[in-house]
Amino acid sequence: MRPEILNPLFGETQSLKGVGKALAKPLEKLRLTRVKDLLYHKPSYWMRRKHVEELDEADVGLTIIVEVTPADYRSGGPRSPFRVQATDAQGNYISLTFFGRNTGWPKKLLPLGESKIISGKLERYGDELQMLHPDVLELADEKDIALVEPIYPLADGLGNKRMGQLIAQAVNLAPELPEWIEPSLLVSKNWSDWRSDIISLHSQEDRNESDRLAYDEIFANQLAFMLVRASNRRKKGVSIQGDGRLRDQINLPFELTGAQKRCISEIEGDLAQSSPMLRLLQGDVGSGKTLVALMALLNAVEAGYQGAFLAPTEILARQHFEGLQKLLTGLPVNLAILTGRDKGKVRESTLMGLADGSIDILVGTHAIFQEKVQYKNLAMAVIDEQHKFGVSQRLMLTQKADHTPHLLAMTATPIPRTLTLSQYGEMDVSRIDELPPGRQTIETRVIADARLPEVVDGLARHIAANGQAYWVCPLVEESEKSDLAAAEERAAILRTRFGDQVGLVHGRMKGPEKDAVMERFQQGNIKLLVATTVIEVGVDVPNASLMIIEAADRFGLAQLHQLRGRVGRGDVKSNCLLLRGDTLSETARARLSLLRETNDGFKIAEEDLRLRGAGELLGTRQSGDAGFRIASPEQISNLIAAATDDARLLLDRDGGLDSTRGQAARIALYLFERDWGVSLLRSG
Ligand code: ADP
Ligand code: MG
Repeated sequence: MRPEILNPLFGETQSLKGVGKALAKPLEKLRLTRVKDLLYHKPSYWMRRKHVEELDEADVGLTIIVEVTPADYRSGGPRSPFRVQATDAQGNYISLTFFGRNTGWPKKLLPLGESKIISGKLERYGDELQMLHPDVLELADEKDIALVEPIYPLADGLGNKRMGQLIAQAVNLAPELPEWIEPSLLVSKNWSDWRSDIISLHSQEDRNESDRLAYDEIFANQLAFMLVRASNRRKKGVSIQGDGRLRDQINLPFELTGAQKRCISEIEGDLAQSSPMLRLLQGDVGSGKTLVALMALLNAVEAGYQGAFLAPTEILARQHFEGLQKLLTGLPVNLAILTGRDKGKVRESTLMGLADGSIDILVGTHAIFQEKVQYKNLAMAVIDEQHKFGVSQRLMLTQKADHTPHLLAMTATPIPRTLTLSQYGEMDVSRIDELPPGRQTIETRVIADARLPEVVDGLARHIAANGQAYWVCPLVEESEKSDLAAAEERAAILRTRFGDQVGLVHGRMKGPEKDAVMERFQQGNIKLLVATTVIEVGVDVPNASLMIIEAADRFGLAQLHQLRGRVGRGDVKSNCLLLRGDTLSETARARLSLLRETNDGFKIAEEDLRLRGAGELLGTRQSGDAGFRIASPEQISNLIAAATDDARLLLDRDGGLDSTRGQAARIALYLFERDWGVSLLRSG
């Protein structure tokens, strides 16, 4: 149960004064659905207004407050704006410009001959100075008008003024909260209490960039992870010590790399323990994680247990199923698949096989988490690309069996060392830091948009030589719809040249449709696959050796790296072309050239972190409950050590979070929606 003190903050934004239907959409879009979300809606910058006596004191572009006298009205045709010609004290002219049909309104605001104090941004329009939709201030509020004002991230239909009002209401609802930060730390950082810091976030431009609010979030995150780990340690698992009979039978056409062998033996060591494993397997795209996972699963099967292998998407689940089936040819292992798409008899029989133990290994999507899915004796679970899953799902899985299964989470997302702890908490980490020998490096080039025709010509030559290629379409922020439109349009254009050799996959497609296209691509019937980022993770088509990414500057580096990893899987030389717009910031340029210079995912991740303070580095903005909303990657890497120590110290002293500070820490867990940590506390 959420502590009562937080209730006002968890109220719906919809219930605030002045929020009608019209605001529902923009609020939703900005993910400001609860009052607390508004509290944490950070100004993107601060606008300064300058008081001037005369217009020539101010530079164009500045927001000013000035006294003027309207001298004349000019209304153009039906399509041009209404203009009020006004003069300052020195007779300098300015045109106050109003768009919209209602000319009565500006006339009423600015009667001719009456001096008025106005505020707005000074602009130049042709030879004239102008101000668009100035605020007209009453003399009484001139004193009140803020000379510095926070400007918030906004959305269509929700302007800054209204946003400010909503935030003010939210701030008014913010209670004093008991302190969860270790007192000595609070003092040494010179941080104020939570409520004061929230207030200053919205009222003080120079709040010396207090990191407290970010720290709170990181602290809650670490604390929750530690609770998971602690509860995991208390749980009983089974000790798995297979005799190797299945693992020995796998016929590999290659030698395992040293890194794979090391990871396999680290995992073996964990499995032999009776406390459940909680381990992360990190390895760049193509480093061979699947095989490492399979060894762990077979170990369990040898010992008479079941294993589960979870993939983030339908496509990947099928691909893994087929890949594993091949590796298991001739072995007495019963492999099955279960996804949301399996219905009726097929599903029933899979469920039965799981319950009676005749299925040894189940591959699937999150469907294998569902209530109805009962295993006979699940002892080993693998989660592929686990950052796509929420923490809560991870926990659900571990609570399925009466003993807790060993858990191996795998990711190809290269994460800087400093951030691993914030994403995976106290998990043990194995790293495959070596690619199988003989891999071709991928030649990466950054190319200006303007050269698109040449790129298409190159593509034509590639296809004529029997090659296959991916074409990834730009990511349009927060709008699945326009992603899709862009991809469809691009596919249509490319079809005019390449005909039905072009296939299209996108996130809105139904599973079977998507798989059908993927299958045709895999079999070479489709030569060019146009896609939105749904191909991001794991898809394996060795003959595809050309990757074209449109508007590459809009992707995160880690994402680009993963996309690029779709090629370079066969033995031919692969190319990756990053198309970019004409205008690129310094940082964007540096980021793209980094990709050109190295194929090392971890190096890319470290550099990316260095190059930008904040951003979508972790790709968590959309991934739900494992994400950080307040702390930037930079803040995470600066504060993680202190937060982790602080959380550990607290739990050492007060493992049940019963003390006054423990209770306060519970509030932090709820505030940041890490309360799954609290439920573990109770169930023990
Ligand atoms: P990822 O780590 O991206 O999941 P995969 O497990 O899909 O990588 O492996 C990529 C490819 O490399 C697969 O085709 C796999 O058979 C192959 N592979 C795995 N291990 C080795 C190895 N030691 N030597 C050569 N090829 C390997
Ligand atoms: Mg993989």
